[in-house]
Amino acid sequence: MSKVIGIDLGTTNSVMAVMEGGMPMVIPNAEGDRLTPSVVAIGKNGERLVGKAARRQAITNPENTVFSIKRFMGRKFADSTVQYDRARVPYRLTAAPNSDVWVSMNGREYPPPEISAMILQKLKQDAENYLGEPVTQAVISVPAYFNDSQRQATKEAGRIAGLEVLRILNEPTASALAYDFPPERRETIAVYDLGGGTFDISILDLGAGVFEVLATNGDTHLGGDDFDRRIVDWLCNEFEREHGIDLREDRLALQRVKEAAEQAKIELSTRLQTDINLSFIAQGPRGPKHLHMTLTRAQLKQLVEDLIERTVAPCRQAMLDAELKTTDIDEVILVGGQIRMPAVQEKVKSIFGKLLLTEVNPEEAVSLGAGIQAGVLVGEVKNLLLIDVTPLTLSIETKGGIASPIIRRNTTIPARKSQIFTTSREDQTGVEIVVVQGERVMAVENTVLGRFVLDGIPPAPRGEPKIEVAFKIDADGVIEVTAQDQATSKEQHITVTASSGLSEEEIERMVAEAKEHDKRNWQRRQEIKTLNRADSMAYQAEKTLERYGDRLTPALQSKVRSKVAVLRQALRVGEIEKVEQAMRELDETTRMIARDFSVKREA
Ligand code: AMP
Repeated sequence: MSKVIGIDLGTTNSVMAVMEGGMPMVIPNAEGDRLTPSVVAIGKNGERLVGKAARRQAITNPENTVFSIKRFMGRKFADSTVQYDRARVPYRLTAAPNSDVWVSMNGREYPPPEISAMILQKLKQDAENYLGEPVTQAVISVPAYFNDSQRQATKEAGRIAGLEVLRILNEPTASALAYDFPPERRETIAVYDLGGGTFDISILDLGAGVFEVLATNGDTHLGGDDFDRRIVDWLCNEFEREHGIDLREDRLALQRVKEAAEQAKIELSTRLQTDINLSFIAQGPRGPKHLHMTLTRAQLKQLVEDLIERTVAPCRQAMLDAELKTTDIDEVILVGGQIRMPAVQEKVKSIFGKLLLTEVNPEEAVSLGAGIQAGVLVGEVKNLLLIDVTPLTLSIETKGGIASPIIRRNTTIPARKSQIFTTSREDQTGVEIVVVQGERVMAVENTVLGRFVLDGIPPAPRGEPKIEVAFKIDADGVIEVTAQDQATSKEQHITVTASSGLSEEEIERMVAEAKEHDKRNWQRRQEIKTLNRADSMAYQAEKTLERYGDRLTPALQSKVRSKVAVLRQALRVGEIEKVEQAMRELDETTRMIARDFSVKREA
């Protein structure tokens, strides 16, 4: 059976893992790194770049370099959070005809799942090269607080990349799985996960191989990126005050400031102060301007205090939902790169009053857990049971626009729940079922997941028909809703499918394009291998001439020399057929050297 990989598709970085000899292990990417930047770009020559290569050229090509795509997965363009983020990324976002978000790169629009698929495709290829076998199935983790659209969009991304997504796993749950927990112990733990773009808190009961999530909460728009932006704004404001130039208006300068801001933030996790130096960052009327500033740990804390504070309420709510007090929590696991900031750790201590655990690698734990879950699904890992919950309440809209809950948040999944509703008008023969997700009382303030009409209800006084609305939610958190008129047994249902807005044909097209890209990539790799072989062949021939040239006939010497020159020229031009032809000719000629030698030896 081929391997199933676990993927942590992160806002900032992505990581993949697989079970090897009963243990989860991180798969390094083609560059030999364990973390792959979640960055995609179209380079200057129109080539697609993913990961480190994309990140490296971000400064000079900011408009066509997409990072933090996770923030836009399964979201509507008009969402206030999307608008907030839109103002802070150097690439262009537009509204799709169905009001979803689209991303522009090099004059083409891409739905966010297609961009995520490019990251997944690289991970898939790198995993295949590393494992030496095709990889077609994966477990992908998402923030626990992702709603259904965001989960569906993630599944679609997997499909476009040629991966069957066997399970969508919540990130904090994945980290708990990776936590090497002695099976004989029984504990209640909290997983505090602050990554690049999202914050999650989950409370779990662990014991005898059972991982039971009691409650989860979070904020899908809070993460390390927001911390960086605070520093960027501070730097830009200070610079503007001093020089009267707003660096935010120059995309290139802004990208440099952004990178320096993140670097400074990371340094301040281990140092008390750091210098930020960006020479020639702007051109003033009297020559170039340089940015030289010092940021202290205390200043940084002030800049981001409210962001850290925003993690408190979700923690409290999760504790309330789990019906626990902080003294009931035995341990707190910290996950996500941003937890390395000392002020964040202090805050966690003040919330839970616990010594913190650092045994899990905050950047790799999620992928390792996803790898373990992949092992569970293929039967490689036994005696492990994962019981997860749904993060947000599922309701239908009823009279007056009220959201009437059917499945409340933190209900264990898979789950099926139903309720009886009725009509609100005399002789009403049809009802529209509007499915919403979220905690707001008014339906419109929540996320609309889908709507459908159940008609053919026999005319009757209002309040008389009995319509059973049933919600089914599977282990991935994917939802199916059924409405049935009990008098006639007439039924309608919908599977809430991606509101990433992609139609089946669009997905098929993207799958085909991704495959085509794969093919081109493979060809390109073969070409590079040929060019490398050609280069070493030319080198070998030159070395042979250097060492043994005087023992060859002048005619053969000049023949070898001319064939090497032809090959070198073909290499310079880079035309693969010409290179191959020149290689064949040089090969024939060098065989003559061997023959020449053996004739001489015999003589
Ligand atoms: P993740 O999504 O878990 O990979 O987390 C990435 C976020 O963690 C980014 O915003 C990074 O800037 C941040 N991060 C990584 N290392 C550190 C560190 N040593 N101190 C503070 N933040 C960090």
